[in-house]
Amino acid sequence: MKTDFDYISENYRHIYAEIAEAKAKYRAVDDNVDFMAVTKTVTPEAVNHAVSLGIKLLGENRVQEYESKKDFYDPSARVHFIGHLQTNKVKYIINDMDLIHSVDSLKLAAEIDKQAEKIKKIQNVLIEVNIGEEESKSGVAPENLEQLLAEIAVMKNVHVKGLMTIPPSQNSEKFLYKMQELYLDISSKNMDNIDMDILSMGMSGDYVKAIEYGSTLVRIGTALFGARNYA
Ligand SMILES: *Cc1c(COP(=O)(O)O)cnc(C)c1O
Repeated sequence: MKTDFDYISENYRHIYAEIAEAKAKYRAVDDNVDFMAVTKTVTPEAVNHAVSLGIKLLGENRVQEYESKKDFYDPSARVHFIGHLQTNKVKYIINDMDLIHSVDSLKLAAEIDKQAEKIKKIQNVLIEVNIGEEESKSGVAPENLEQLLAEIAVMKNVHVKGLMTIPPSQNSEKFLYKMQELYLDISSKNMDNIDMDILSMGMSGDYVKAIEYGSTLVRIGTALFGARNYA
């Protein structure tokens, strides 16, 4: 785990510049692309250093790791849940998350709806799409997306704000393109109670390409904090 703050500062400036360049090259002037810092395995001190540099958004993968670190985080950053979420863990994070990126089943959405109602919250979520249809990955299959959206649209305490994906590492560009097509197609349907404001895609290896293909939020771990010991 890298905790060298100077190194994080350098990485931050580099990524920030690349995001700005990609935006200028590929996107409309007023398009927004959020830069999320993915915090798994990173110490709260290093996370807070990133926040001091200008990071406003943190991405959490694991409920237990988040629980052990959250009290030490700079409270000025917003927190999103981006990891695979088990239904029995929803209750532990529902209070804190601005957005849950990883909803991929009716069962999970129903549990979020139930827990959000208890605390009188409307929980914003993204639907995770398994765009490469890989067996090893979470996410709803592209052909089942519209039906899942229709089923979640009627829930009172869950609000869909867009889509998230982790494309296959091989041929990633083809899948970024496919994901953009799917996102635009769903947007054009203007489904009741469903917003398509956020397309969360792009990680350390492909964030510039992801911005080219319409991402509005890139999730960066390794390129900012250095290599992890586990994935
Ligand atoms: C770990 C992780 C990232 C960041 O990956 P890097 O390649 O380290 O930038 C982004 N999104 C999700 C869902 C992750 O689990």
